[in-house]
Amino acid sequence: MGDFSNAFDLFESLFDGFGGMGGMGGMGGRGSRSRATEGEDQGYNLVLNFKEAVFGVEKEIEISRLETCGTCDGSGAKPGTKPSTCNTCGGQGQVVSSARTPLGVFQQVTTCSSCGGTGEISTPCGTCNGDGRVRKSKRISLKVPPGVDSGSRLRVRSEGNAGRRGGPPGDLFVMIEVLPDPVLKRDDTNILYNCKVCYIDAILGTTMKVPTVDGMVDLKIPAGTQPGTTLVMAKKGVPFLSKPNMRGDQLVRVQVEIPKRLSSEERKLIEELANLNKPKAATNSKR
Ligand SMILES: [Zn+2]
Ligand SMILES: [Zn+2]
Repeated sequence: MGDFSNAFDLFESLFDGFGGMGGMGGMGGRGSRSRATEGEDQGYNLVLNFKEAVFGVEKEIEISRLETCGTCDGSGAKPGTKPSTCNTCGGQGQVVSSARTPLGVFQQVTTCSSCGGTGEISTPCGTCNGDGRVRKSKRISLKVPPGVDSGSRLRVRSEGNAGRRGGPPGDLFVMIEVLPDPVLKRDDTNILYNCKVCYIDAILGTTMKVPTVDGMVDLKIPAGTQPGTTLVMAKKGVPFLSKPNMRGDQLVRVQVEIPKRLSSEERKLIEELANLNKPKAATNSKR
């Protein structure tokens, strides 16, 4: 079980049939003690920071799960003992019970509860109390691919609970939760950022340093940029899950800031601008 690097499939958020999973590794209480049954799937919640989700990360996680009991090799029987025929059902594995109701007597065939349907009784293994499995913790190294988001699920094959009596193991489902970044927002493979630009820079144009997942990057604000304009920083977004060498964009929404107060000098200059822009006739009539 050493190499897990490629052992998972990816489940996107649209795969939603998993919600009711609840806690980790419920025993399920499924019927037979002794027939081979598949192990239960296990769930694990993994919290990633914003950049880990964007670029992928290798994480070591510790899970607690049921493994095949080494003492009895999963049989549930105490080593060295021989199973004997179940007295309750005489080895049939089923019992017939009759219930008297106002409508008559009903006969019901049920699985024998003494032997769990196997027809045999064995001395239970002292290590696992006859279950054939024991709870153990295990460290698993997990390769989270680039581009996951909150709600993504990774499936690690065969790392759930061991099966019973030689049944196959369940899978481990890792549910991803991504912590938000204070300024960058995810929109699928794009990253959204709001950028404040002072009105003069919006008019004259400038170059600004803008935070991206690759660090601070220069962004050119063209002269005459309108409020609400979205500037595209190509390929500064999130890698595509299916094609990790392709990336989305960072979309920068420009918020033009108009000053609420002006110094007297600024006011004078702006009034000059205003006069400059007024139609000649209007200007004259004021003087
Ligand atoms: Zn055992
Ligand atoms: Zn029985």
